[in-house]
Amino acid sequence: MAAIPLPGKRFFHLVLAKIVGGPRGIKGVSLFIVPKFIVNADGSLGPRNRVSVSKIEQKMGIHGNATCVMNYDAATGFLLGAAGKGMRAMFTMMNEARLSVGAQGMAQADAAYQNALEYAKTRLQGRAVTGAHPPDGPVVPLIVHPDIRRSLMDQKSFVEGARALILWGAQLLDRAQRRQDKDAEGLISLLTPVIKGFLTDVGYDMTIKAQQVYGGHGYIEEWGMSQYTRDARVAMIYEGANGVQALDLVGRKLAQDGGKHMMAFLELVTSFCKAHGVQDKAYDKDFFEPLSKALRDLQAAGMYLMQHGVKTPNNALAGSYDFMHMFGHVCLGLMWAMTGKAANAALAAGATDVAFYETKLATGRHYMARQLPATALYLSRIETGADTVMALEAANF
Ligand SMILES: Cc1cc2nc3c(=O)[nH]c(=O)nc-3n(C[C@H](O)[C@H](O)[C@H](O)COP(=O)(O)OP(=O)(O)OC[C@H]3O[C@@H](n4cnc5c(N)ncnc54)[C@H](O)[C@@H]3O)c2cc1C
Repeated sequence: MAAIPLPGKRFFHLVLAKIVGGPRGIKGVSLFIVPKFIVNADGSLGPRNRVSVSKIEQKMGIHGNATCVMNYDAATGFLLGAAGKGMRAMFTMMNEARLSVGAQGMAQADAAYQNALEYAKTRLQGRAVTGAHPPDGPVVPLIVHPDIRRSLMDQKSFVEGARALILWGAQLLDRAQRRQDKDAEGLISLLTPVIKGFLTDVGYDMTIKAQQVYGGHGYIEEWGMSQYTRDARVAMIYEGANGVQALDLVGRKLAQDGGKHMMAFLELVTSFCKAHGVQDKAYDKDFFEPLSKALRDLQAAGMYLMQHGVKTPNNALAGSYDFMHMFGHVCLGLMWAMTGKAANAALAAGATDVAFYETKLATGRHYMARQLPATALYLSRIETGADTVMALEAANF
């Protein structure tokens, strides 16, 4: 249920509800517009509708947003669209909302990272092990330490890759909606659960990494880092929990339109690799080879899931979450390979902002070397099927 504020004190709610005597299940769900005030025939405001808030929920985070239990007892609602088509109407809103929630995952990770970076540059702790910092020398800022750098590079490379993916998604959505481009529509439909599920899961992990950079201060409210983890947590749950995103990806989107959109994605990455590989040895080694390897893992996993989807669905669905993450990594690998190519081209063309492009290349290399190889682990998990997952009786857990 979403409340949409209008100017002044007028509100209405969009409510999914069933019409008495209608079909069972989701086919019986319709969408209603339920105003706060009944509007008179002349357009003036009439009496209050019987809509009320019975409770404001106590939540783990996002305290700036009131989540309420609403009562609609004997309230008047007006059917919006056709009876029984409520779920379809809701998904019009929800598909875009899922992309926005994916952007939340990225944005929360980015805000947490910016804080962690600042802290790492200013907090003095420990001594450097190499370079101009002798072991008995003065204490150094955290950012000197390799393990802190690992964490910051993980955060930076995720955030920048994720931002590129969000922008690509927005572009596909524009093409689908403004140019009625069916290929773009199919692709963004396939990518929606990946963008939502992967970016919010990893975005949350990154807020934890950022919090960890603060050590004990990360756990103390005064420093504000726990708020990022609390606020980011809900993005993995609302607009469809991430397990349901994985189910949507493997159970529906993968085989949608005869698997056409999945094939289009694989073809897109393959063509990129073909067109841009074997040009520059350093680029090939750092970007093209890891992307090609991850693509092969994704193809093998997709094949496994397609083969098992109908015959032994447990085998396919036990790997659905891994597949969603694997797919997310390949998307970010593609974003970084494209970014790396653009950065190289800009440098070759004599761009003046050399540090900017070299930083992009170094950040992309980190993602390709340290994050993208995770696809091999996901593939091996997927190929184990459901044997261990389904082994125990519920009573034996
Ligand atoms: C702060 C907040 C604000 C919200 N705002 C709104 C709102 O404005 N409007 C609105 O309509 N809703 C809203 N929601 C509800 C939200 O969309 C749901 O809580 C969310 O989609 C998860 O659904 P659920 O709670 O029914 O969990 P369930 O569907 O019961 O899922 C529970 C767990 O089981 C898993 N699961 C469920 N089914 C399957 C399956 N078939 N296979 C494998 N795993 C499965 C899920 O991944 C999840 O981990 C809000 C929720 C929160 C927390």
